[in-house]
Amino acid sequence: MKLKVCGMKFTENIEAIASLQPDYLGFIFYDKSARFISSEIPNLPKTIKKVGVFVNASEETVVTTVLEHNLQAVQLHGKESVDYCKSIKKQLPDIEIIKVFSVKDEFNFDVLAPFESVCDFFLFDTKGKLPGGNGYTFNWNILENYPSTKPYFLSGGLGISELENISEFSKSKASKYCYAIDVNSKFETQPGLKDFELVKQFKQQFAVNTIQHTMSYNINDKGYYGEFGGAYIPEMLYPNVEELRQNYLKIMAEPSFQEEFNQLLKDYVGRPSPLYFAKRLSEKYNTKIYLKREDLNHTGAHKINNTVGQILMAKRLGKKRIIAETGAGQHGVATATVCALMGLECIVYMGEIDIARQAPNVARMKMLGATVIPALSGSRTLKDATNEAIRDWINNPVNTHYIIGSVVGPHPYPDMVARFQSVVSQEIEWQLQEKEGRTKPDHVIACVGGGSNAAGAFYQYLDETDVNLIAVEAAGLGVNSGESAATSALGKEGIIHGSKTLLMQTDDGQITEPYSISAGLDYPGVGPMHANLFATGRAEFISITDDEAMNAGMELCKLEGIIPAIESSHALAVFKDRKFKPEDVIVLNLSGRGDKDLQNYIDYFKI
Ligand SMILES: *Cc1c(COP(=O)(O)O)cnc(C)c1O
Repeated sequence: MKLKVCGMKFTENIEAIASLQPDYLGFIFYDKSARFISSEIPNLPKTIKKVGVFVNASEETVVTTVLEHNLQAVQLHGKESVDYCKSIKKQLPDIEIIKVFSVKDEFNFDVLAPFESVCDFFLFDTKGKLPGGNGYTFNWNILENYPSTKPYFLSGGLGISELENISEFSKSKASKYCYAIDVNSKFETQPGLKDFELVKQFKQQFAVNTIQHTMSYNINDKGYYGEFGGAYIPEMLYPNVEELRQNYLKIMAEPSFQEEFNQLLKDYVGRPSPLYFAKRLSEKYNTKIYLKREDLNHTGAHKINNTVGQILMAKRLGKKRIIAETGAGQHGVATATVCALMGLECIVYMGEIDIARQAPNVARMKMLGATVIPALSGSRTLKDATNEAIRDWINNPVNTHYIIGSVVGPHPYPDMVARFQSVVSQEIEWQLQEKEGRTKPDHVIACVGGGSNAAGAFYQYLDETDVNLIAVEAAGLGVNSGESAATSALGKEGIIHGSKTLLMQTDDGQITEPYSISAGLDYPGVGPMHANLFATGRAEFISITDDEAMNAGMELCKLEGIIPAIESSHALAVFKDRKFKPEDVIVLNLSGRGDKDLQNYIDYFKI
């Protein structure tokens, strides 16, 4: 957040405060104010923007004052109209216009809308006797209902004693568009004269308190999504994870990496995947549904986007040997595929039970040259396979890269995988622009196992809060049946596979066995991005039972001639009960195709 110090008046004091490098200094050109500036403004560093504050001045006065004092911004504190602002903008196109609104305990945000296009910032000040400088704060909670995305200044009675509140505020949702803090009377020894030491102290504390708190639903530089994420790993694993953390962003930014990644996505994976308008499905549910066809990718799902990215990463890190975990075998197949492509050794850990259940995928991996090692411990399913993979990595830190298959695991995995999958929403943006004339849909729907296909589909829209995100989990036989994988409904905060996230667990913290008819959703946690999307209410979470998913899958076959993966069928099942408007534009990420699930469909429908 930026800092503006307003109501400057005395030359020496202006120079002293300027030496503290605030972002804005404000000068009041309203002659009824005790802080009216009657002298010249001294020369100031270019990094400080000079703001002229006016109250119902004539347009001519504003324009001549701006030119005379070489101001970079005007702050309009009176009853200036929309037309007035528009005219000022026209005459002074390079000047920032800050329109002030006075707030007490409530505020009708509707008044902002007409000003959106004619000013650069809003400023919220405390309503009081005077136009500004009243010395007390208003109730900031009302900013939770701020309907705009226009950045605003927060003003009114801010002093040292408010630092803690400002810090709290900067962590809240309401502060998302708070651009700057505006201080004035609380720092004065007399009107217009600021206490240098007090401003200095405030500025230092302010920087410390607010720097980390700009609100985003994406990862922060410490590897957390809100309170979720991080790297909770045994010491033995630290060198491996640290090597990756230090290098992944650098490597991904290299032009040669980008080029090779994009080339493979295009020629090998078959991207871009189509954004298909599902006409008959849309008619049935009386809304506009687009399907993002990840099912048409090589190997039949979105997972290949990530394994292509990670194999290129592994090569650049000089690794010769690849390990992976797999549950149903989909990620194992995607990993074996890219290892064959690059001629690297591939070892896939898979629970013994899963090996028996997923024979075709085991055969695929073997054909692609991978070694499949059964995990014999615990429940002999996915989480045990993951434990085995981690053990292997600890024993082979130098030559081995571990390709994790979803946005789970210790930082930087969730972020790295999300970035590799983000190609999905990057494509949606331009494809939707072509089809609908806009880059943003009203809703994005995706199923969530660990969360990678959803992360890819949500990525570009995480901070676009006018796009509703819908995450669909597997309820199995029912959320409260004891046979479910609905992590958001049943999970509590805990640590799994190196990440602090939401996790299905017993009262004493033992991981609960998940269940879903869909092997890809059968995971007891979700990635930290999704835990945060749930905890903050940014995404809507819906859980879908086996029966609902199977029927929705069959419906897509009949309506659109597409046989979806059962995972994707969970996302499709949302339409049955969740109503959308006829004009809503919805993008549903069809994460995979149903070939692998044929036997399941056959058994379920007795085909
Ligand atoms: C693996 C898989 C999923 C679930 O994994 P996410 O990481 O949540 O995307 C969903 N759909 C398909 C087709 C899959 O293969």
